[in-house]
Amino acid sequence: MENKYVCSVDIGGTKIATAIMEYPADGGVPHPVFEAEVPTEAQEGGEAVFQRIEASIKAALEANPDVEVLGVGIGAAGVVDPKTGAIAYANEIMPGWSGVQLGPRLREDLGLPVAVVGDVQAHALGEAHWGVGKGKFSVLCLGIGTGIGGAYVENGRVMQGFHGAAGHMGHIECSAAAGIPCACGRSGHLESVASGTSIGRMYDERFGRVDPSRPSVGRDVNDLCRAGDAKATEVIHDAGFALGASLGSLANILDPEVIVLSGGVIHQGPDWRSQTWKDSVHEGYASQALDPLQDTPILIGSLEGDAPLIGAAEHLLASLK
Ligand SMILES: [Zn+2]
Repeated sequence: MENKYVCSVDIGGTKIATAIMEYPADGGVPHPVFEAEVPTEAQEGGEAVFQRIEASIKAALEANPDVEVLGVGIGAAGVVDPKTGAIAYANEIMPGWSGVQLGPRLREDLGLPVAVVGDVQAHALGEAHWGVGKGKFSVLCLGIGTGIGGAYVENGRVMQGFHGAAGHMGHIECSAAAGIPCACGRSGHLESVASGTSIGRMYDERFGRVDPSRPSVGRDVNDLCRAGDAKATEVIHDAGFALGASLGSLANILDPEVIVLSGGVIHQGPDWRSQTWKDSVHEGYASQALDPLQDTPILIGSLEGDAPLIGAAEHLLASLK
C-alpha cells in the first residue's frame, strides 16, 4: 500500500481553502500536506468565484508536482445537485453562485474525477469518517453558528436528498420559534431560537442590550449566564432546550448511533458551552426522543476546521468506488 492523495476544496462565503490531503498507507488520519487560502470575494459574482476556485486547484497541483491525486473533492456553499455537482441554489450571500456548473466544468477543464457535496455535508463526512463519529454506523451532525445546518451520514455515505438540499436542520418547525421570522423567509424555525445570532437577539428583545452600543451576540449572553445572571440563564436555557427537542425529533426519524454538534457556537472556545446550555440540550432531547433513543450520545465534533476538507476527500473517494 502506498500513500493516497486527494485535492480538497472548501468553498465558503468568505474564503476558499484548497489542500492536498494525504491518506497514509498505514491507515492513519488523512492530513493536509499542502494548504492555501484565498478570499472568496463572493460579491464579484459566480463566474469570478469559479475562476478563483479553478486557479486555486491548478496552483495546488502545480505546487506538488510529485503528487498524483486521485481526483478533486469539493465541499461547496449552497445546494449542490447530487447528480452533476453543479450549484443548484445559493442565497444572496453568494450572488450569481446559483447555476454555476462547478462539477461539470472542472471535470472537463482538469481531466480529473471531481465530486462536489454541500459544505455542511462535507463537514459531517469528515466527522463521521475521522472525527468523533469514526467507526459508528450512523452519525447525525449539526453545525450551530450564525445559522444552523446539518447532515446525516449512514454507512459512510451522506444523505444528499433528491435536490441536494437534505439536512437543513435549522429550518424545521419548532414550537419555541412560533411567529419569529427566519432568515429563509418563513417563520417558526429552529434557527430563529437556537443559533448564536438568535441567542443574542432573544436577550435584547426580552431584556435590552448587554452593551447599549451594539446588538448582543451569543457570547455576551453566555458570559452573563456563566456569571450566574438569571436573565441570561433563561435565554441560554430556552435556546439549548429548543435545540435538544429538535435533536430528539430528528433522532425519532433517523435513529443515529451518535449525534455530533459542531460549528462556531460550539467551538468559540472552551468556555462557550456552559453547563446550563449542555443540560438544557439534554433536557430538550429527553423531552422528545422515544424510549429506545433516550441514551443516544450527544458528542462535540473533534476535527473543527479540517472536517470539511477531510469530508470532501471522502466524498471523492466514495464517488470512485
Ligand atoms: Zn427557516
